[in-house]
Amino acid sequence: MSLKPLRIVLLGAPGAGKGTQTSRLLKAIPQLSSISTGDLLRNEIAKKSEIGSVASKYIADGKLLPDLFMAQLVTNELRQRNWLNRDASFLLDGFPRTANQAEKLDSELESNQANVNLVVELDVPPSVILDRISNRWVHSSGRVYNLQYNPPKVPFKDDVTGEPLFQRPDDNPETFKVRLDSYFKELAPLKQFYIKKGVYDKVSGDTSDIIFPKLLELIKKRFS
Ligand code: ATP
Ligand code: MG
Repeated sequence: MSLKPLRIVLLGAPGAGKGTQTSRLLKAIPQLSSISTGDLLRNEIAKKSEIGSVASKYIADGKLLPDLFMAQLVTNELRQRNWLNRDASFLLDGFPRTANQAEKLDSELESNQANVNLVVELDVPPSVILDRISNRWVHSSGRVYNLQYNPPKVPFKDDVTGEPLFQRPDDNPETFKVRLDSYFKELAPLKQFYIKKGVYDKVSGDTSDIIFPKLLELIKKRFS
């Protein structure tokens, strides 16, 4: 499937399945690559870099990192990957998270004629999400499993590498509530920003299997 350049932002509450949808989209659309800011930051923490040491303090509490810090991080990443041009296709998972981040990203992309051309909100009921999070196990690569819906082939081992899976320290109920509250607080202005740009859309569903075909259809329709 060959599509016009797509520059997609996925919005969704923590646990809404941004990571899962991203990996499915990457399989379905070969021209697409992605950046997940959560994975990026967790890598930095694992490397014990300076960025990682800043990030760990915020992440452990479920708090958002400062907008300017995040905007610079993502802009650097986009530049390094040579994605700041009108022919590039990419998907951003976990950024922007605030209207302020969206504005910063927009001005960077605008000056490179590479604006975001689709923003999709993954709309999953909070009750479903809360239920899900205690079953989430992850691999250091960012691969995500759900013990109920999407279990690893061998219990608690990554399908690809066989390495052990772990639970994210910020997936405990207390921190999770902080993250969920912050998501809904930031969502309204962020959404407004992209509605004004005419690129906003939303896909609803209780499971990733329900959401994925709708999401793929939406993308095909807009970019064929
Ligand atoms: P999920 O991975 O389930 O979608 P999430 O969206 O809350 O959950 P990540 O995207 O993995 O989690 O991010 C983890 C943490 O990293 C956040 O709680 C926050 O502290 C930090 N973070 C990631 N992206 C951003 C961002 N764009 N702005 C500020 N902080 C961020
Ligand atoms: Mg994620």
